[in-house]
Amino acid sequence: MLTDLKAQSPDKILMLIEEFKADTRQGKIDLGVGVYKDPQGVTPVMRAVKAAEQRIWETQTTKAYTGLAGEPDYRNALATMVLGDLPADRLASVASVGGTGAIRQALELARLANPGVRVFVSNPTWPNHLSIMAFMGLPYTEYRYFDAETRGVDFDGMKADIAQAGKGDVVLLHGCCHNPTGANLTLEQWSEVVAILQKSGAIPLIDLAYQGFGDGLDADAEATRLVARSLPEVLIAASCSKNFGIYRERTGILIALADTTKGRDLAQGSMAFLNRQNFSFPPDHGARIVSTILMDDALRADWAAELEEVRNTMLGLRDQLAAELRDLSGSDRFDFIRHHRGMFSRLGATPEQVQRLKTDAAIYMVGDSRLNIAGLNRDTVPVLARAIIDAGI
Ligand code: PMP
Repeated sequence: MLTDLKAQSPDKILMLIEEFKADTRQGKIDLGVGVYKDPQGVTPVMRAVKAAEQRIWETQTTKAYTGLAGEPDYRNALATMVLGDLPADRLASVASVGGTGAIRQALELARLANPGVRVFVSNPTWPNHLSIMAFMGLPYTEYRYFDAETRGVDFDGMKADIAQAGKGDVVLLHGCCHNPTGANLTLEQWSEVVAILQKSGAIPLIDLAYQGFGDGLDADAEATRLVARSLPEVLIAASCSKNFGIYRERTGILIALADTTKGRDLAQGSMAFLNRQNFSFPPDHGARIVSTILMDDALRADWAAELEEVRNTMLGLRDQLAAELRDLSGSDRFDFIRHHRGMFSRLGATPEQVQRLKTDAAIYMVGDSRLNIAGLNRDTVPVLARAIIDAGI
C-alpha cells in the first residue's frame, strides 16, 4: 500500500534551507525562511516566555487534558489582544494548532456550513493557503493584489475581484504584514473592502500571523477590529508563532464572530467538533505561556517591550536598505521597501535575478523575490544592496 503513494512535491522554502546549509561560501546570507532572527542571526526565546515557562514549571500540578476548545483564559486573553474588547454575545473561539491549524479549521468550518463554498485569495499569498485548499479540494479563485510596477497594492484590481464573491463564499485577507509581498491596505482601503463585503454577504477570513510586527500591536489589529465591528459574520485565524517567538509550540486561535447567539453557539460547537475530529485537544504549553504573559502586567509589559525592539529592528533595516539602494541606484525606485511592513518584502525581481543573487553573491531568497528583512543586519544590508544592483534588479 505505501508504495502506491505518490511522491509529494517538497516545500520550496524548506528546499531552500537545505540548499543554504550545503553552501560552503563565507558570508552567505539567508533571507528565505520566515522566522525572525536578531542581528546575530539567532531566533531568540523571548524574556517573558522564559519567565512564563519557569512560572508554569513551578506551579503546574497536572497535565491532564484541557477542554476541547482549549483553556478559556487563553482564548479570552488572546481574543482580547486581537479584538481590543470582547463582543461576548457574538464570539466563539477555539485554541488551534498554530495559525496554520486555525486556517485549516476555518476552511473546514466554512465548508461544513456551505459545502459549495468558494474561497477568494490574494495573488500572491502564503503558498500554504493554496496548498491546504488544493488538498481539501476546496475551489478557490485568486484576486489581484500586488502591483508589480509600484510594488504596492493593486487596489482597483482587488476591489473588482473580491466583488465577485457572493453570499456563502469566503474572502481570505491578511490582517497585516502581507506575506509574501509586505504591501498592505490603508485603513481607508479596508473600509472600502468592508463596504464590498457588506453588499455581497461574503464572509471574511482574516489571517493574522504578524500582529506586532508592522506598526505596533494595536495598529496591526486595527483592520481586523474594523472588519469585526462592521460585518455580521467574521472568521479570524491568529497565530502566536511570530509575536511570541514560540514557533514550534504550535499556538494559535480560531475566532468566529456571529450576528446571533444561535450562530455563535453553533459555531462554538462545530469548532470544538472539528478539533475533536482532527487532533482532539489542542496543544496547551504555548497557550499557557501566552495566557501567563498576557494576564500578568509585568510579564506583558516586558514582552510588549521586546516585541517593539523586534519591530523597530526590522524597520531600521528597511530604512537602511532603502537608503543604500537610493544611493547606489540614484533613484527612489526601491523606496517601497521602506513602506512595506512586516518581516517580508517582495522585490519584484525575475527568477533569473533571484538566481543570480544566489550564484554570484550567496544571497538566498524565495524564488518570487520575497526577502526576509529579519535575515539582515547592519553589516549585510550594504552587501545585499550592492548585489541587488549588480544583479540588474
Ligand atoms: N499565515 C501566514 C500568512 C503565515 O506567514 C504563517 C506562518 N508562516 C502562518 C499563517 C502560520 O503560522 P503558524 O506557524 O502559527 O502555523
